[in-house]
Amino acid sequence: MPNKTTRCVLLSTTLDLRDYLAPEIARLDGIVSFVDHLDGSDAADVEMAVGWHPEPDAFTHYPNIKAACSIAAGADSLLHCPSMRDSIDIVRVIEPAQAEMMSGFVIWHAIYHQRRMGTYLQQQRDKVWQRLPQRAAREVPVGILGYGAIGARVASDLSMLGFPVKVWSRTPKMTSAGVAGFHGTDGLDRMLDDTEVLINLLPLTSETRGILNASLFAKLRRGAYLIHVGRGAHMVEHHIFAALDSGQLSGASIDVFPIEPLPADSPFWTHPKILLTPHDACDVTMAAVGGTIRATAEAVQAGLRPRDTVDRVRGY
Ligand code: NAP
Repeated sequence: MPNKTTRCVLLSTTLDLRDYLAPEIARLDGIVSFVDHLDGSDAADVEMAVGWHPEPDAFTHYPNIKAACSIAAGADSLLHCPSMRDSIDIVRVIEPAQAEMMSGFVIWHAIYHQRRMGTYLQQQRDKVWQRLPQRAAREVPVGILGYGAIGARVASDLSMLGFPVKVWSRTPKMTSAGVAGFHGTDGLDRMLDDTEVLINLLPLTSETRGILNASLFAKLRRGAYLIHVGRGAHMVEHHIFAALDSGQLSGASIDVFPIEPLPADSPFWTHPKILLTPHDACDVTMAAVGGTIRATAEAVQAGLRPRDTVDRVRGY
């Protein structure tokens, strides 16, 4: 238990964090004192930040911040903030319940493709009574980019439903039963080969930016389906549209975009082969965010490194 309150600034250009975190802010009263913006000498008392897409110069105003918490599993908007300093520990939220939520979301989209639900929705609109050939899950190979906290749960759940599952990570992994593991540059091609449903669960790093491109799509089974729940900048946008228009991709479920909220004139809204959701695949719970903020404040007070920090070298 810290013996004084930790002063923590809320930094976001896209969310009203005070409103978003209201119940946890109340619960942390006496442990963390939250401020919206401080100028002058008071800014030196700020030892911690909670952030989501902060202003580019956000951290320059606070010389003594020791740790910055994301409010989600991904912390790329903090890591890539131009004013972020190497001395600041970046903390992300890890919660097993989030992987469960994501798994349900991804399974729904995989079965939407396997059971041709897009075609049935169109047939209903056209009042067409037409049964389509059925395919068992075992006939629809799934590939997952990323085998971390979330990817591992998604892989094991899809495997239990009968889908053949291959996964790709940076380093070699022990995989669960029914899941074939691949890693590194060579492993990627072997993972993509004959994959029909490709799920992106990678973090955004300098190595993964733009990974969803024409060359990758060309290695999939023709008519493959993309489920993209990573980060918007993983996509080379015009390559997505070209692959959909050529039929190399038969469709795509896309939850994350380079600019969020998605601008009204974006072609993603209207493409007939895209199923779009507003970055809503899975949230962490407020309780988990609050627990992470509390644990980080306690570590800062004790002069220790917080848990669940981003590794700066690997970029996630
Ligand atoms: P994680 O535990 O950090 O796992 C990341 C995985 O990606 C690891 O398996 C890692 O390999 C792999 N990886 C990273 N860089 C790689 C590279 N260059 N080549 C091959 N594999 C690489 O992350 P997580 O908690 O599972 O979350 C994954 C991502 O999902 C987040 O970063 C975010 O982008 C996305 N997400 C989206 C939503 C949403 O609502 N849409 C919600 C939560 C998360 P190693 O195992 O070898 O380290």
